[in-house]
Amino acid sequence: MTDPEDLATQVREGDLRIHELEEHADHDTAAEARRLFVERETGTDLESIGDYTFPAERAEPNIENMIGAAQIPMGIVGPVDVNGDASGASDGGAADGEHYLPLATTEGALLASVNRGLGVIRTAGGADARVTKNGMTRAPVFRVNGVAEAAETVEWVNDNFDTLAEAAESTTSHGELLDIEPYVVGDSVYLRFAYDTKDAMGMNMATIATGEACEIVESETPASLVALSGNLCSDKKPAAINAVEGRGRSVTADVLIPGELVEERLHTTADAIAEANTRKNLTGSAKAGSLGFNAHAANVVAAAFLATGQDEAQVVEAANTITTMDARQREDGTSDLYASVSLASLEVGTVGGGTKLPTQSEALEILGLRGGGEPAGSNADALAEIIAVGALAGELSLLAALASRHLASAHEDLGR
Ligand code: NAP
Repeated sequence: MTDPEDLATQVREGDLRIHELEEHADHDTAAEARRLFVERETGTDLESIGDYTFPAERAEPNIENMIGAAQIPMGIVGPVDVNGDASGASDGGAADGEHYLPLATTEGALLASVNRGLGVIRTAGGADARVTKNGMTRAPVFRVNGVAEAAETVEWVNDNFDTLAEAAESTTSHGELLDIEPYVVGDSVYLRFAYDTKDAMGMNMATIATGEACEIVESETPASLVALSGNLCSDKKPAAINAVEGRGRSVTADVLIPGELVEERLHTTADAIAEANTRKNLTGSAKAGSLGFNAHAANVVAAAFLATGQDEAQVVEAANTITTMDARQREDGTSDLYASVSLASLEVGTVGGGTKLPTQSEALEILGLRGGGEPAGSNADALAEIIAVGALAGELSLLAALASRHLASAHEDLGR
């Protein structure tokens, strides 16, 4: 067996490059050699980073220059009670019933807070959740001479959707091209391709498929491809286009909470929560020029992403969530609380990417959503719906804490 000490020495002496170690040893030995090299170079002890439980080879598609694993505490909240009607009804959701949601985070009090909201949602009879739109996008940018060529290109694309769909779909057995939205800026033409990527988050799938279609656009129009991603997609950046048009799953969850329950369990009133939401999440966010009109939806999304192997950089897109809270007056003059979250661009998958890693795949197993769904796409839809209800619970709990002025004391009680 190759000695990791020898390999580390060879890297140090410049005889081997740090990314080439897997060519000379198995993946775990390569990671150990790299760790030894870094320990020597930096005078550190990387025992914890090296104390991972899965074969390093399993992480090969997910990481280069592996030295170990970052371990983030994972907890559980729930049950998340979703009234999805997964009976196959056309207006039904994909998730139905009670699910435990694994969350990985370092933020103390987050799970306690989300769990409090989930308890209220359960007592209220569960939340409704639906994916209302689904389309993973890739928007290449082309160069043309000017507006005449831009118009010619757009016209050809509009007239030849089927040809482009055939080319794009030749690269995947799951993906379906749904739409191509053209945008012209001077001598640049952007084509925003949107795909149903089923149970995959779909960024690789959409990129490969779009690359194939671009070759036809280049051969049939005056346009020359400059970049396969022209940022109108828009991946991993805050962007109004995602908030308006959606990207990945657009998902909404809502619940009606009886006024008595708000008082008993959240120690405030529907009116107070609704006012806090309007002044904070709506007016405050508008004044701040924020794209996110919510309290902390990204908290639940990020923790669920880390636990279930999603692409964590795409939390950016989910942060554009809009939270609404309204006091709905009853005949007796008291009010119930209507609460909703709408995540316009939640990019999730249950196959591909990081979902195959051992801990992440176990976390998906807890949800009953590991791998492809039946029908294809239903597992990723269900994951989106459950995360949305988790985010709704987080919004409810935080807004209630603010409305009842308990936020600081709740953190103090938990010692954080
Ligand atoms: P992927 O791991 O590249 O591919 C998933 C593949 O799984 C699909 O292409 C599909 O193969 C197959 N599959 C099997 N069962 C499926 C089902 N039920 N539904 C859908 N697909 C099924 O994952 P991806 O979701 O396309 O891309 C996610 C990865 O892209 C992440 O690792 C992310 O970090 C990375 N990423 C890439 C880019 C980029 O520009 N390339 C940008 C951001 C992130 P077939 O297509 O053959 O049917």
